[in-house]
Amino acid sequence: MSRLVLATHNAHKVEELRRILGDAGLPVELVGMDSFPDVPDTPETGVTFAENALLKAHAVAAATGLPAVADDSGLCVDVLGGAPGVFSARWSGRHGDDAANLDLLLAQVSDIADDRRGAHFACVAALALPGGAERVVEGRMTGVLVRERRGTNGFGYDPVFVPDGEERTTAEMEPEEKDAISHRGRAFRGLVPHIAELLG
Ligand code: IMP
Repeated sequence: MSRLVLATHNAHKVEELRRILGDAGLPVELVGMDSFPDVPDTPETGVTFAENALLKAHAVAAATGLPAVADDSGLCVDVLGGAPGVFSARWSGRHGDDAANLDLLLAQVSDIADDRRGAHFACVAALALPGGAERVVEGRMTGVLVRERRGTNGFGYDPVFVPDGEERTTAEMEPEEKDAISHRGRAFRGLVPHIAELLG
């Protein structure tokens, strides 16, 4: 069985990709970065999702000697020209301060009419082999931004994002419901044929 490493310490992401690989019947053993405590996090210095995902995947493949998958994601707001985009996790200036990031975004679009509040979550998943081969797939979930937070599931911008065809925010949906339509689920599922090709 081939080993594949996902460049994250997030157990939920490891579980999600493991489930997708299992559903596809791929004989691949997936491990997260908790299995490599000596490998440092890769700084996300890119200015596109693809650049950051590839940076992380290649760094982890080189450090572990294993094929590696990495993802980078964010919220892209139409009226802001695609921002916060790669800056989603640090939009307010403080990395990982979800509440401040969300407050700032809501203030920025407070004057925007309901029919012009389109946005999408984007996720780029990259696969890199220690020898240098690489594949990149993007997944999207489109929807609209509401004006007030609703729901307590999820993280980040979930409380103000309603996917197309839904009434609920992604913070009001069950985690499995969100995984089925999410940008990350779509990117990971899109990577499956490439994993089969390069690791098969
Ligand atoms: P990453 O961890 O570098 O990929 O940054 C992702 C950032 O984008 C997070 O900190 C969130 O602000 C935002 N984000 C990405 N995916 C989601 C999601 O599914 N829900 C809510 N926010 C998300």
